[in-house]
Amino acid sequence: MTDKSEFESELYRTALFQLDHVAKRIGLDADLHERLRYPRRALVVSIPIRKDDGSTEVFLGFRVHHNSVLGPTKGGLRYAPDVTLGEITALAMFMSWKCALMGLPYGGAKGGVRCSPRRLSRKELENLTRRYTAEIMLLIGPDLDIPAPDLGTDEQIMAWMMDTYSMTQGRTVPGVVTGKPLIVGGSAGRREATGRGIVYVLYQAARVLGQELRGRKVVVQGFGNVGAVAARLLWREGSLVVGVGDVQGGIYNPHGLDIRQLEAHVAEAGTVAGFPGAEPVTNRELLELPCDVLLPAAVGGQIREDNADRVKASIVIEGANGPTTPEADAMLRDRGITVIPDVLANAGGVVVSYFEWVQGLQYYFWRESEITARLQEVMTRAFNRVWALAAKEGCDLRTAALMEGVRRVAEGYRIRGLYP
Ligand code: NAD
Repeated sequence: MTDKSEFESELYRTALFQLDHVAKRIGLDADLHERLRYPRRALVVSIPIRKDDGSTEVFLGFRVHHNSVLGPTKGGLRYAPDVTLGEITALAMFMSWKCALMGLPYGGAKGGVRCSPRRLSRKELENLTRRYTAEIMLLIGPDLDIPAPDLGTDEQIMAWMMDTYSMTQGRTVPGVVTGKPLIVGGSAGRREATGRGIVYVLYQAARVLGQELRGRKVVVQGFGNVGAVAARLLWREGSLVVGVGDVQGGIYNPHGLDIRQLEAHVAEAGTVAGFPGAEPVTNRELLELPCDVLLPAAVGGQIREDNADRVKASIVIEGANGPTTPEADAMLRDRGITVIPDVLANAGGVVVSYFEWVQGLQYYFWRESEITARLQEVMTRAFNRVWALAAKEGCDLRTAALMEGVRRVAEGYRIRGLYP
């Protein structure tokens, strides 16, 4: 295949750059390397929905399976106005390496709908979700592909997806999505899992770097499912969360923000902007604030060639997927900044999604304490494996994490062989 234009996007360019870099290092078979640069399958759908005013509006949706060599595919569903096929394909590829790295029996997938969820009413969101689910029905199922929440989607959207799928099957099928509300087969601890996993990984990083998290200054970009949970846990453990931003702007207080009060403000105002006792900053300024730890937990491509030299943190931990461009990544590395890559740092979400899926298949649910203990064990082991490999190979953590992820996928292909 030579024409890559269908997948043209900055994030896909990042994904290919990472794969090509690692392929060389692990001596990946050239034919398999070529296969892994493309998704196994990609579906583009149009989604007509009835609006509240009686009119019809058509949205564009995607579901991409990158590969399924290690098991059914798994990946989030994103509602955002700038979603493209290339971006979703890149995110599906990241999921492949992430699941393989964490030792989960999944391939990588991702879905997206090009829309602004905050501009839709609840009824319109439900119509959109149900019709999207119906359109991608062929590609999803508990042993085929299992969506989960991502940017702009939540537990309610997962419940509508599960209900729509179940209605077509004539029975309740909890295992078709994860990140559901508890009452319909969700897992304790799933909502907090990604943020909590980030904190477990950060603890390990601080430990091996001989640092303490208590009293350290943290800046968080994105105050949603990932960023808000991580900020709250770090704040509770005694870190100073000095800066926080969301799509509408950022805030800064060098003495630390009270995260519980900030959550109350966000619940009312819908944004961190305007929080009393903090000075306003732009999202650009936020990333350049003086701090020890920077947690980008919003969207991709935020740390770039034109701002990487002004990042002050000594640790960048990637809560978002693909927040650092390849050029910026090299600049941070050259400046001695430790970057903990997305495929490792934010894997807590898919780990607890896996727990939820297993619980749903067995109709046997675990206590939250069991879930957090198992999550901590999985995240800690993964961090230590990646840290040891980076030390052995003399490479950065991203390269080490991707080497392990890609190698496991490649091993799956080798052992299964090529059909027919
Ligand atoms: P979310 O929708 O709950 O929250 C997103 C936050 O980012 C919001 O505060 C929003 O205002 C802010 N934001 C959006 N666009 C922005 C922009 N252009 N500039 C600054 N801020 C912006 O989403 P989430 O689930 O917290 O996901 C955040 C990131 O983490 C995404 O990149 C997602 O792929 C990644 N991620 C999420 C999970 C999960 O379990 N939810 C797991 C792994 C990775």
